[in-house]
Amino acid sequence: MRWWVVFLVLLSAAACHAEERTVEADVPQRVDDLQSLSSSLVPINDFVYKVEGEGAIFLINTDEGSVLVDTGFAGRMADQQALIREAATGPIRKIILTHAHIDHSGGITAWQPDFDAGAELVTHHRYDYMARLQQEPIEYFKRRNHVLYPTRVSLEPETGGPRPYWNLQEKEKREVYPGAPYEFELGGVKFVVIAPENGGEGEDGILLWLPESRILFTGDLFGTLYPMFPNLYTVRGEKYRDPLDYIDAMNLVLELNPKVIAHSHFRIVEGEDYIQSSVKQMRDAVQYTWDQTIQGMNEGRTVGELMEEIELPESLQLSQGHGKVSWGVRTIWEIVSGWYDYESVANLYGVPASAVDADLVELAGGPDVLAERAQRYLDRGQPLEALRLLDIARVEPTPSVLKTRIATVDQLIEQAQGLGNYSEIGLLRAEQRSSRAQLDALSKKGETGS
Ligand SMILES: [Zn+2]
Repeated sequence: MRWWVVFLVLLSAAACHAEERTVEADVPQRVDDLQSLSSSLVPINDFVYKVEGEGAIFLINTDEGSVLVDTGFAGRMADQQALIREAATGPIRKIILTHAHIDHSGGITAWQPDFDAGAELVTHHRYDYMARLQQEPIEYFKRRNHVLYPTRVSLEPETGGPRPYWNLQEKEKREVYPGAPYEFELGGVKFVVIAPENGGEGEDGILLWLPESRILFTGDLFGTLYPMFPNLYTVRGEKYRDPLDYIDAMNLVLELNPKVIAHSHFRIVEGEDYIQSSVKQMRDAVQYTWDQTIQGMNEGRTVGELMEEIELPESLQLSQGHGKVSWGVRTIWEIVSGWYDYESVANLYGVPASAVDADLVELAGGPDVLAERAQRYLDRGQPLEALRLLDIARVEPTPSVLKTRIATVDQLIEQAQGLGNYSEIGLLRAEQRSSRAQLDALSKKGETGS
């Protein structure tokens, strides 16, 4: 199972159960609601349904058969499938995958009978490419994702070959290219499948547009929440989302002028005025972040300074529960700069700064001296400086180092609550679990005298 999927799922679950909550403040708490998510059929109009579940599926009925958008979460969409079988007015004629994430395409094998009966599979032409980027480094990603989702992401090695939803290279499908929408008519309903350039959470994000009812199915075009500052470069690790392409995709949505956005992970978004204003806000927030970052780079500012300084103006404030403006700044800097930072020619080589941490600890007079100095920073409300010292002291994690580290990360968690960024808070909490476990192990060792 994938870490980010879990996140998305949790959010969508919580969204259903907790409409009264604010999007901005409660993102991490929503995770707790996942387990109670149940499948349900939510009508959008008299022939379009959202089938809620761990990964939403959309059903569009026509007189000549039905169309599905996405296929549900691998291994966990049986209830949704049963609801669709009941509600579909005819055979499934097309299955459109919005992108290659497990909560959207994971359930594809369960629809094999429909493919056998002639259903057409429709994807972005970059689907297979994005699938490779996720499948080939899977063991690496699992170790990373396990940090954020220790109970949900298994470290067991993959068995049975590539995951079926990432293994569609040989499968017959219609691939849609940017600039060449796939238009079809079924039972008198017009469908337009649009493949933006790098428009979604991955490069393979695809949109379905129903021009007559003006419903736009967006998959994860906006990310998990709506509206939100986009997660341009996830900390979990996935190819970055180009901010300029994101802006183009927002302009495409504005041009279509939908009345309804059938968004995968949150409530259905309705009202053309609200959609126009919120999409403009997301577009302009990214444009602002881009402009400020590029200007700062031209002026010779460092990436760290820009991450600390750039903030959205009041009129462009958006939820940072999933994406984060400072990480957007870093993304832009990384896209423009590449991997070499010009800070030290040592960074052209493989030996990290931490290679001499043990020397620094010894020269400082031991790890506890560093912990004491870190505590001074902490007392002055500078937890990040404290953390840098404690990172050096980590080569010799004494109880004092670990206790100061826990106090430091506590302060960071407290500061992070304001934005409610799921990944930030999750990673800080994982750090706390690890320090506490080390501290427990040390005290047990002390008790037994071993
Ligand atoms: Zn998703």
